[in-house]
Amino acid sequence: MQEQPWHLFLDAIPLPMWVLDRETLAFLAVNEPAIRHYGFSRSEFRAMTTRDLCLRVDEEFPKTGTEEPTKGLPGHTIQEHRKKDGCVIEVEMTSSNIHFGGRAARLVVVHDVTQQTRDQRELRQSRERFAKAFQLSPVAITISTLPEGRYVDVNHAFLNIMGYSREAVIGRTVRELGVWVDSGDRAAMVEDLATVGRSTISRTQFRTKSGEIRLTNIFAERVEFEGIPCVLAITQDITEAHRLEEQLRQSQKMQAIGRLASGVAHDFSNMLSVILGYSELLAERNQTGLSGKSVEEIRKAAERAASLTRQLLAFSRQQVLHPKAMNVNHAAESATKMLVPLLGEDIELLVKLDPAAGVVRADAVQIEQVLLNLAINARDAMPRGGRLMIETGNIDLDSPFAELAELHPGPYVVLSISDTGSGMDAETLAHIFEPFFTTKAPGKGTGLGLAIVYACVKQNGGDIWVTSQPGKGTCFKVYLPRIDEEAPLGGEPTTASAQGGSETVLVVEDDESLRALTARVLEANGYVTLQAGDGKQAIEVATSHSGPIDLLVTDVVMPGLDGGELAAVLSAFRPELKLLYVSGYPNQLITYHGALETSIALLEKPFTTQDLLSRVRSVLSNPSFNLPRHA
Ligand code: ADP
Ligand code: MG
Repeated sequence: MQEQPWHLFLDAIPLPMWVLDRETLAFLAVNEPAIRHYGFSRSEFRAMTTRDLCLRVDEEFPKTGTEEPTKGLPGHTIQEHRKKDGCVIEVEMTSSNIHFGGRAARLVVVHDVTQQTRDQRELRQSRERFAKAFQLSPVAITISTLPEGRYVDVNHAFLNIMGYSREAVIGRTVRELGVWVDSGDRAAMVEDLATVGRSTISRTQFRTKSGEIRLTNIFAERVEFEGIPCVLAITQDITEAHRLEEQLRQSQKMQAIGRLASGVAHDFSNMLSVILGYSELLAERNQTGLSGKSVEEIRKAAERAASLTRQLLAFSRQQVLHPKAMNVNHAAESATKMLVPLLGEDIELLVKLDPAAGVVRADAVQIEQVLLNLAINARDAMPRGGRLMIETGNIDLDSPFAELAELHPGPYVVLSISDTGSGMDAETLAHIFEPFFTTKAPGKGTGLGLAIVYACVKQNGGDIWVTSQPGKGTCFKVYLPRIDEEAPLGGEPTTASAQGGSETVLVVEDDESLRALTARVLEANGYVTLQAGDGKQAIEVATSHSGPIDLLVTDVVMPGLDGGELAAVLSAFRPELKLLYVSGYPNQLITYHGALETSIALLEKPFTTQDLLSRVRSVLSNPSFNLPRHA
């Protein structure tokens, strides 16, 4: 064959081609596209061999491109070549043996596959990346068909949330599995996907294999999967986050109300102490006749108000609890006595106290409050009469039932209050323990009763359980942990009877009328008193007074120096001085003493004459109530 026709042939082909000498690998001929593609001129090619093009001139080279092709079939090789400008390309070469100008030669067609290889590599990498992200993602991801919702692929996170195995999901539809609680939400998503190609569904509910409901956010995108229209959905499980948020909101609300309640209670405490004190003084003088009765009524009302104040403090968790081993039956009996006049004639009261009902450690006053609040609600639910039943008993909660009631398994005393009244629907039931939730007319209900009940029960380590049906009545059960102890017989131990004394007492209180009353009561019982309206005055009084001072009775919260600071200052020069704090906010003492230790004497406002006298006497007689020593 002549050289000329070969040139015509080579130049007619749009792909780079050349002819090599099979022995020397020198270029015998190159075509125009090869010159353009590689950037070498024809004469530069003529001066080179293919080794000069090849990037890796190693042992593989002589074999590639020069070995004898299998009979009748062209040989294929892949090589990396360097162009004149230094750029490296990947080429696929097809070659055949020919005779060229009488030499054993090889005709090579070059196909630059650089871009193609790069594209394939990128595609492969991106597939791998997606597969990894898909499987490892902590967020649930699914691919399902449109519009039917047949699962094509799902990741581990999805299986984890839903509780299914992969086999149970793939090939099944969302409908068969009952995934969407509200099929309307899915319909909305499908509609979005059909119109705009993507969709976000917030707070929809998914049903897991076990029937549990999870709250989720769905971010969906329309995709093609092997030619079929599908939905790629990211499912975010927000159940836990939602629960925490609700809890936080509730506790913030309770905190705010608690702060308000304790502020109000504090101011009331001062006023009630004055009312109680003076009515007691008056009662001592007018024991008979109409004025005696009137004073007694004033005192009773003030005591009720004081107990309400304590309830408010209990609710704001600022009350100092007096938990003691107590018999729930005693509390039930005394609450029942108070209850009878409040019930009216149409309500039948049944009291079934189990004599075997065990002992609990709780604050007796709080347990009475719980009972009264529940019983009064029951009465209000039976405006046309009915039956109110108060029962006590023991119960040993085993684990499944305890879990249901969110209690620890174990022994409990249960106190149940049931009525045959109006009952409640689910919506009402969901809110009853919230402060200020009431269904009663303005002026009739405060919505605080059950909030207080709840706080009291929780403070005493118990829990509360309600069942109610509209029209069928209501039953509240209060569970208090039962302890293995005897309750003191006859309820409250008798308090040391009030005695007077002749010691000198320094009374520090910024509320003038309360200070005057305190001094008056003490003086009436033989004590010598000194008075001060604040800490600064108290220090002046203590320095100028020449005789002994035996006891400092000081309010904790005062403008300027507070009670704790005053005590610290006075301890420096009157080390013999004993200390009794008076406070409407018991927890404020924690600032000075780390915790309410028993060695700190505290008189809670509002207090009665009796409380004041017995506390003063017991502190004076007890050697451990000296002022704190500050370094
Ligand atoms: P209040 O009694 O001031 O309304 P509570 O906190 O004591 O506030 O009660 C809240 C609400 O719970 C009541 O308004 C009533 O709707 C409902 N409720 C409480 N106890 C009962 C009961 N025994 N029967 C029916 N509804 C009740
Ligand atoms: Mg109530």
